[in-house]
Order: sequence, then structure tokens, then C-alpha cells
Amino acid sequence: MSDPITIVRAEVLGYCMGVRRAVEAAEQALLDSPIRPVYTYGPLIHNPSALERLRSAGVVILAEGDSLPDDFRGASVVIRAHGVPPETRAEIERRGARVIDATCPRVLSSQKRAEAWHRKGYAVVLAGDRDHGEITSIAGSAPGCVVVENPADVAGIDPCPERAVLISQTTIKQSEYDAIAQALAARVADLVVLNTICPATQERQAALEELASRVDGILVVGGRASANTQRLFATARSLIPSSWLIEGPEEIPAEASSLARIGITAGASTPDEVIDAVEQALQKR
Ligand code: SF4
Repeated sequence: MSDPITIVRAEVLGYCMGVRRAVEAAEQALLDSPIRPVYTYGPLIHNPSALERLRSAGVVILAEGDSLPDDFRGASVVIRAHGVPPETRAEIERRGARVIDATCPRVLSSQKRAEAWHRKGYAVVLAGDRDHGEITSIAGSAPGCVVVENPADVAGIDPCPERAVLISQTTIKQSEYDAIAQALAARVADLVVLNTICPATQERQAALEELASRVDGILVVGGRASANTQRLFATARSLIPSSWLIEGPEEIPAEASSLARIGITAGASTPDEVIDAVEQALQKR
């Protein structure tokens, strides 16, 4: 009989605080109103199995930008971790739905700070992906704000304000944010740079680096559409060539079983039960 595989989990992996809160809010809404519809405004999470599980439990997932059903009366609508602009929330309430706000506290803080600086008369500049739900939600709190995705975009700000505050998307890379801040500082005399980057991504990356020093191969568990899972996979590959991105236990490659020590990490949108299923499948081998 061959030696059993040693399985090591990364110290930090899987759901971040904001995603866990949003999924739990949807589950609680189903329990609280079993006969009324529960909607989420946009997918709560970039993970196909988690979305399927919510759908089969009765949650209706509206695509962001979808027109809202005419009669929302009595329905519950869960706002996901990215948040929504105030006018979207008002529209949901106007249609008679109950809003369950699962906006991540970190995103909520960015929204409040954007609004406060806007009131003080500062131009608000947001650094991030202009099509991302989080950026759209923060932009809604600071009318007239500008979104920049890279330092080149900063050159295009016209007219350039005399005083501005720079706020980052929570998942932007620190190096990208620093480059944008530097470009903006060269143009704006009175610039306030707020650091609103969430440590969740960095913590998972650091735990992965530590894990790589202890194993011969790594399974990165998560949805292929999840940006932070893809980033974890790129790091894993750069550290150990025998690394694979899998969405569930059925995708564990045969080569993984031939390794003596295998590590597991998972993106911030990967449910606990999928991580557990991968570990159990490895144990059976
Ligand atoms: S990554 Fe950070 S900011 Fe984004 S939802 Fe998770 S905890 Fe909140």
C-alpha cells in the first residue's frame, strides 16, 4: 500500500468576512420568509456551486442592471457585499420590497468617506475597475466623482481639481494604487489619499506563500470567474509548478494523488463545504 497523502490547508483561505455575511444574510432571509420571494441584487458570490445552492433553495438572482420586477411588494432583496448606489436602494424600496443590506462594512466605510469628502468640497477620485459593482456603489455616494483605472487615466482628468480625495477599490493591488496616487499628486495641489484596500486578499496571498514552503503541489479551489481565485492560482503556479485551479472535488487531477504533500487554498468566494469536499476526496485517495 502506498503512503497516505499529507494534506495541508493554508492558514487563511476561503470566504472573506463580507462574502460570508452576504451568504448568511440570504440564507437567513429564506428562513425568515419561507413563502415570500428572496432576491439578491447581483450574484452574491463568484462561485457557481454556491450560486446553484442558493438558487435551488429558492433565491432569485437578479443580474446587476436588470430592470426590477414591477411588483416587489413583500419580497426581500439582499444587497450584496459590493453595495449599491443610494438611488438603486431607494428604487427597490419604492417598489415595496424589504431591503436586507449585506454591504460589506469596509465598502460601507468607503461610501461614507466618499460622501463626507464630497460634502467638504473635495473632488472624489476612485481608483479601480469602473464597471465593478463596488466602484458603482461608492460613486453613487459622491456625485460627479471620477474613476481612474491606471496612471494614464489620471492625465485625462479635465479640468483637474485643486483639491481631491483618492479612494481605492477594496481589492486593488497596493502597487497599482501607489502608482495612481503618485500620478495624481503630480497634478493636484491638495490631495488626500485614503487607503481603503482590504487586507483579505493580501492575507490569503501571504498564507499561500507560507503553504508553498511546506508542500509539493497546491490545489487552488474556487470559481474560474473569481478574480481573487485566479490571482491566487497565478501566485501558486509561480511558486510551485504542480498547482491546479479546481472548482470542486471532481476536478482533482490524477497527478495530485502521486504527491507526498499537497496544499489546499481557496478564493474569498469559495464555500466551506466545497473546500471540505476537496479535502475528503483527497483523503479517500
Ligand atoms: S474582500 Fe474585503 S472588502 Fe471585499 S467583501 Fe471581502 S472583506 Fe469586504
